[in-house]
Amino acid sequence: MKFDTKSVHEGRKPDPLTGAISTPIYQTSTFVFEDYGKPGEHDYSRTSNPTRSALGEAIAGLEGGHQGFAFSSGMAAVTTVIHLLKAGDHIISCDDLYGGSHRLFSEIMTKFGLDFTFIRLDDEKKIQDAIKPNTKLIWIETPSNPLLNITDLEMVSKIAKENEILTTADNTFSSPYFLRPLEYGIDLVMHSTTKYLNGHSDVIGGAVVTSNEELSEEIQFLLNGMGTNASPLDSWLVLRGIKTLPLRMNKHAENAMKIAQYLTDQPQVKEVFYPGLPSHKGHEIAKKQMDGYGGVISIKIDSDIKSFLKGLKIFQLAESLGGADSLIEHAATMSHAAMNEEARKKSGITDDLIRLSIGLEDSDDLINDLEKGFQNSK
Ligand SMILES: *Cc1c(COP(=O)(O)O)cnc(C)c1O
Repeated sequence: MKFDTKSVHEGRKPDPLTGAISTPIYQTSTFVFEDYGKPGEHDYSRTSNPTRSALGEAIAGLEGGHQGFAFSSGMAAVTTVIHLLKAGDHIISCDDLYGGSHRLFSEIMTKFGLDFTFIRLDDEKKIQDAIKPNTKLIWIETPSNPLLNITDLEMVSKIAKENEILTTADNTFSSPYFLRPLEYGIDLVMHSTTKYLNGHSDVIGGAVVTSNEELSEEIQFLLNGMGTNASPLDSWLVLRGIKTLPLRMNKHAENAMKIAQYLTDQPQVKEVFYPGLPSHKGHEIAKKQMDGYGGVISIKIDSDIKSFLKGLKIFQLAESLGGADSLIEHAATMSHAAMNEEARKKSGITDDLIRLSIGLEDSDDLINDLEKGFQNSK
């Protein structure tokens, strides 16, 4: 099946009881046993739930993975993956990543004896040099949040395999429509389904897709043991969102390309970060491994941020991304406030950096809105 068809059908089948075409929301905590010692397919909703299983199956189908799992948030998914490791293990992570992931790694998981090295994953030698005898995981985010840096997945997975190191790619920014990391040898894919997979800014959720049975068993064990699972209602909302994923991603990317070009010509913009622009330093790798460039653009601006933001009417000042509504945010004080100043500085998240999540509105309206912001900040 092609991607568009999979988006509609993977994981779903008409409800066996009623024929309902929409997967029911199995809003139940527990399931009655068939007999003593004979549970049905599901026994308790933390362990598994039919609506959640349908979502896991749908995402696994889109990523081309072995099994998919839905979590209560993107951070619950990250936390669960990190628990594949144990005290004494070392992790190499990209240095500009989602602020919450950075905080979990550097301020929480270090308390449990995990050791992290944050580097830009753009150079084979640099990665080789960062590997220690106890390195067990390489954490990748591509395109990264908020600088849209691109990591060559094939290059990293080759190094990792040679050194028996597990790899995880946070695929939130691309969604499986534009990038399927498992195709490049990555072991695990992680998502904040809060973003593009759900796509409507009305759910907090996460997902993990595995590449083999052993990892599937481990992730299921951790999900159940740690209680990081998604609820049936949230699972259903993400399942519904996925049906329109290809349509939405195409529109996000089309709008983003037009807006990135407009911003490149705008004198108050010092720098535009969008992997679809040939001037972006990761463009060639992005072109090679992705089917599209997504809907997030970051810019460094040369005018008063406050009055620029005040001049906007359609772009709303809010964290998050990937929804129908266009959003704009100041990385240093909002999405990446969880990162300390030194880490922000090191990874290039400066105070003049603004991140835009391009929504599904008309691109001319969005460009006019930005133009008004720039006029307001002159
Ligand atoms: C939002 C986000 C997360 C965290 O997801 P939540 O659903 O907010 O917990 C992780 N990674 C990336 C790239 C994100 O954008």
